[in-house]
Amino acid sequence: MQTPLPDYLAHVIEACDIDNSGHLADYIPELANANPNRLALAMSTVDGEIYSVGDDDIEFTIQSMSKPFTYAYVLQQLGIDAVLDKVGVEPSGEAFNEISLGKDRRPKNPMINSGAITTHSLIPMKDDLESAEIVRQFMSALAGRELRFDEAVYASEVKTAYRNLSIGYMLRTVGILETDPVDIVNGYIRQCSILVTVKDLVRMGSVLANGGVDPKTGKRLLNRSVVRQVLSVMMSCGMYDAAGDWLSTVGIPAKSGVAGGILGVLPGQVSIAAFSPKLDEHGNSVRGIDILERLSRDMGLHLMEGTPSAQTIVQSHYRTGKDASLSVYVLRGVLKFTEAEMLLRILQAEPMDQSTIVIDLTQISIIHDVGKRMFLEGIDRLIDDGHTLLLVDPEQRLDHARTHKDRTLHVYQDIEDLIAQLKDAENKKV
Ligand code: GLN
Repeated sequence: MQTPLPDYLAHVIEACDIDNSGHLADYIPELANANPNRLALAMSTVDGEIYSVGDDDIEFTIQSMSKPFTYAYVLQQLGIDAVLDKVGVEPSGEAFNEISLGKDRRPKNPMINSGAITTHSLIPMKDDLESAEIVRQFMSALAGRELRFDEAVYASEVKTAYRNLSIGYMLRTVGILETDPVDIVNGYIRQCSILVTVKDLVRMGSVLANGGVDPKTGKRLLNRSVVRQVLSVMMSCGMYDAAGDWLSTVGIPAKSGVAGGILGVLPGQVSIAAFSPKLDEHGNSVRGIDILERLSRDMGLHLMEGTPSAQTIVQSHYRTGKDASLSVYVLRGVLKFTEAEMLLRILQAEPMDQSTIVIDLTQISIIHDVGKRMFLEGIDRLIDDGHTLLLVDPEQRLDHARTHKDRTLHVYQDIEDLIAQLKDAENKKV
């Protein structure tokens, strides 16, 4: 059997291929020479499997899709508050290259050019490297290969960068930029000229989808809080003045670039990248939007549909031992807020007696932090009620097995062994 996913993706780009509307970005002369017929689509699962179709080996400049990654880099280096001092997080409802600032004089968000130029200016110096080179190295680490600059696109944009320079001078005037705006704007333009394929983009996106850990190497590249901040801003501001429309129709945090790329990242699930150079009036790829709309609809990827809880946590509950004095709970699934609440509600029904409760966590696949805290709180309350608590947790995922009241818990490796031991002890007592 071959997974049908590549066939499905091929079908999607075929269906979108017929739309020839839109125009090439021509304010960067070199981009006007792009082949308008290029079309590519890639998807990475949260565990790092990459599927791709169409012109998936063709490189194009990352342009504004570099903005979330530079934002991630400075957040990681400086902390969220230091970055918020300089750049806001409100959707602007304006074009990406609007020459405007928020009322507090900060750029409204890091996805429009004023915010992205400011973000670029915050890159801390490292080993005498140019700021764009630092970004290139960071993005290469995310992509898992050495990315390079497109010198022709860079030179072409620098020559005609009047608008971005105006933004730079405006930012310098109000003190948001603290050094020469020309150098900063050039560094930002160089960051935009990094070459990627759709496969690179989804690999970079998979680190964001996976909460900051590269699924291919298992290495943590970004803090979870940084990833949450970046994806939030992509959701509210990534598609510029089309952000509201995008949120309601596609519902996937995304960022577009004027070379025709769109990268979407659905936390905990997938990253998707499309490439087709013709743009709509907002500067977003026409066929790229069509592709993401279809995928979101066909595959139920809209963020607001959420990932429903499986709504099961106790796989089985039975009583055993002499006079059914042992109450055994076998848990299964993911322990997040919804499931922890469900479990505590079930445990509430335990009578207030001196009985022993065994809880088997072996088949719990993920214990989320809130799930752990609620579980340990429940354990404390059961002990306060007079119960003896025995846990089966072979992977020791309950942090040294101490409760909130700093009680040491009794943790065992195997449910069968434990019950046999308990019955044995009971028999000996008689
Ligand atoms: N380098 C481009 C610019 O600054 C990027 C814009 C974009 O991709 N939306 O104008």
